This record gives sequence, C-alpha cells and structure tokens, in this order.
Amino acid sequence: MKKYLIIGGSIAGVSCAEGIRSRDGEGEITLVTAEAFSNYGRPLISYYLEGKTDIPRMSWRGEDFYEKNRVQVRHGVTAEKLEPEAKRVILSTGEALSYDALCLCLGSHPFSPRFEGLETVENRFFFTTLEDALALEKAVGKESRVLIVGAGFIGLKCAEGLRDRAGSVTVCDLAAHAMSANLDADCAPILEKHLAENGLRLMLGDTVTKFEGKTARMKSGKTVKFDVLVIAIGTRPNVSLLAEAGGAVNKGILAGERMETSLPGVWAAGDCTESMDVSAGEAGLLAVLPNASLQGFCAGVNMAGGAEKFDKGIKMNSIGFFGLHIMSAGTYTEPVYTEITEHSCKKLFAAGGVLTGFILLGDVSRAGIYTSLIRERTPLETVDFEALKKEPSLLPFGQAFRAKKLGGAV
Ligand SMILES: Cc1cc2nc3c(=O)[nH]c(=O)nc-3n(C[C@H](O)[C@H](O)[C@H](O)COP(=O)(O)OP(=O)(O)OC[C@H]3O[C@@H](n4cnc5c(N)ncnc54)[C@H](O)[C@@H]3O)c2cc1C
Repeated sequence: MKKYLIIGGSIAGVSCAEGIRSRDGEGEITLVTAEAFSNYGRPLISYYLEGKTDIPRMSWRGEDFYEKNRVQVRHGVTAEKLEPEAKRVILSTGEALSYDALCLCLGSHPFSPRFEGLETVENRFFFTTLEDALALEKAVGKESRVLIVGAGFIGLKCAEGLRDRAGSVTVCDLAAHAMSANLDADCAPILEKHLAENGLRLMLGDTVTKFEGKTARMKSGKTVKFDVLVIAIGTRPNVSLLAEAGGAVNKGILAGERMETSLPGVWAAGDCTESMDVSAGEAGLLAVLPNASLQGFCAGVNMAGGAEKFDKGIKMNSIGFFGLHIMSAGTYTEPVYTEITEHSCKKLFAAGGVLTGFILLGDVSRAGIYTSLIRERTPLETVDFEALKKEPSLLPFGQAFRAKKLGGAV
C-alpha cells in the first residue's frame, strides 16, 4: 500500500488528497498542518469578522472530509526537515514520517518590512489565518482605532471585516492606488471612492516611517493615532523546507506542469509554488485559491500514478468590498477596450493577437468568457472581438469553439 504524505492542510493540501483519492482508494494518506484549523476558506476570514459566517460554515470541503477520504490529520504540527534520500520528513514533535510520495502545500507567510519602532506596538497583527481573525476579534472593540498598513486585497478585506467592530479604520499604502497589484489608475479611483463612502479612511501614497507605541509617524509628516495595528503588506511563499533539502526554488518552489519538484518523489502545489502563467508566457507566483485547488488536485493525481497537467494557470482575482464586485485576471499589456462610468470600469488588454488580461469593476457578469479566452489563448481574429468587447457571450465565437465549450449545443 502506497504511503502519501501531504504537508499543509489548506486549499492545495485538501485538493491534493482529493486528487490522490480520485485514483487510489487504498493508499495511506497522512496530512500534517501547522494550524489548529484546516480545510477552511481563507478568503472567508473577513466575513467571519463581519459576522456573516461562523467556523463550521467556513469549512471548505465539509467537516467530514478527512473521515470520508480516510486522511489521517495532524493539526498543530510543523514539518521541520525534509530528508529526500531517506524519503522522510522530521516533525516538530521529533517524529520521522516516511513516505513514498510527498506533496508540499505550504502556502505563504506574511511579509513585514523592518519598520522602526515596530517592537513598541503592543497590539499588532497579520491577517492571513483564522487564528489571526480570532485574535483581532478579541483585540478590537467599539472604540478601537485600527491602522492597517497595506491597501492590497488582504488589507482591504481586513478593513471591511473590522469596519463595524471598530471606532475607526485607516488604511495606508505607499502605492498611489488601492489594490495596485490588481487595478490600474483608471479603475482604482472608483474603488477608493466607494471605500471612503463606506467609512474607511484611506491614506494612499503614504506609509509609516516610525512607530512610537500607539502613534505612527507617516512619510508625509502626518501622524496617525491607533490602538490596533494590522500589517498587510504582502506574503512570501514558504520555500525553505524544500530549499534546505536541496530542491530548486526561485521566488516560489519550482514545480513544472505536473507539479513535481526537482526532488524525486516530492510534489508541490498552491501559494508556495511558482508555475507557468499562460497570460505572461513565463513562470510566476499565481497565489490565488482556484490555482491552489487545481494544482493540488493535479499533484495528487500524479502522485497516485496519473498523468494530469496544470497548464492553464493565470493570475486572477475575484473579490468584493461593501457590495462592489471586482474581477481581474491575466497580464495587463496593451489596453484594447476601456469603458468607465461613475460606478464601473471595464478594461481589456491584448498582445500578439490574444487577450492577455482584463479588469472588471462593478459589472462582472460573464467574466468567465474573458478568462476562457485568456486561458485558451484563443486568437482574437477567430472571434467577433468587437462584439465581445461590449457584450460577452458565446455567439461571437466560431462554431468549433462553441462546440468545444458547450458540447455543440449552440
Ligand atoms: C484574507 C484573505 C483573503 C483572500 N481572498 C481571496 C480571494 O478572494 N480569492 C482568491 O482566489 N484568493 C484569495 N486569497 C488567497 C487564497 O486564500 C490562497 O491562494 C489559498 O489559501 C492558497 O492555498 P494554499 O493551500 O496554497 O496555502 P495556504 O492557504 O497558505 O495554506 C498553507 C498551509 O500550510 C501550513 N504550513 C506551512 N508550512 C508548514 C510546515 N512546515 N508544516 C506544517 N504545515 C505547514 C500553513 O500553516 C497553512 O495552514 C485570500 C487570502 C487571504 C489571507
């Protein structure tokens, strides 16, 4: 009986177990994860703070997933060392677990630059795990002034989650615009206005230069008084377990389209990896939930002897703030269509005759069609792109494409 070992119990780890079980009903699967909670939707932690969900409903694949799939889980345990020659992993408990096939689904960790005086801030948090949300729930009261450093999607989701719990929420970012990794200068101001109308104070193009207890001294010369600080500047892939064992890493763990690392018998999936971005034509970090799920499943199938490929990866983001929906995907090359109103923004980008990216803010309907065009690298000359720019539907596609997508139904 084959012995599978998965490190990390989030989206990629759980999907990996699903991938294994899709081919091997007998093998022994052990999953080791550092967190006390696992198998939960990380994007839901802000909804938890808002009171829109609770811990049981945050379960990603259902609370009986491990039992149903006969996965032995070890919560609150860390993998400390990988010994690829001996095919074993040393745990924080001192145990050594051997494996025939190993998958590293290690995710990423919050990044914190060295702010002067950060150690003087008593109430400081990150916002990437359910435990972070539970800690913030305790720390933030009706009078609390919250300062969030970072106006990317994690910082803004945290701000949304805390708005009704706190006295005030201020978000600062050195970038000139909110969500600068996903939105451009045309679309971001619409989001910024919406966030301000919903009670957030944004300080863009400005950041903290020094902390003195409950005071942040800003680059602009302003000061911000706060009670609770959240650092949401970004995340970095967890690569050290593989790198220290001699595996190949760049920004993330290098995993080819079969999600196999450079070490024999070791796979990797999710936010800890770097893999091919079809919209950019080069490898990169594709750290979003759908990619983690697809990669984990792909790795699991291959660990069990299958031949699955992850070859349609693109950066994408689907998110909403106070009822305003945003979807973005791919690489922003040459803008080929722009439509901006007071409350919405739509931009399409193309290069080399294919759609490479899009931003939809406000009206996100039919975003799947644009995503499909990017993933499939469909030549725009083969579709009625003029019609598709305005009203995405499958009709402007040739019959062959429609047949592939819809089984010939239209
Ligand atoms: C607030 C927030 C909002 C988000 N919103 C969205 C969204 O709207 N849409 C979207 O697509 N994505 C979103 N994301 C990103 C998405 O959650 C991630 O892409 C996804 O969780 C990645 O899954 P993963 O399994 O690769 O890694 P992770 O979810 O990071 O999980 C990795 C797990 O491995 C464990 N681990 C790490 N090292 C070890 C070790 N040595 N030993 C044992 N265990 C270890 C960690 O503790 C963790 O439990 C959001 C993320 C956050 C934080």
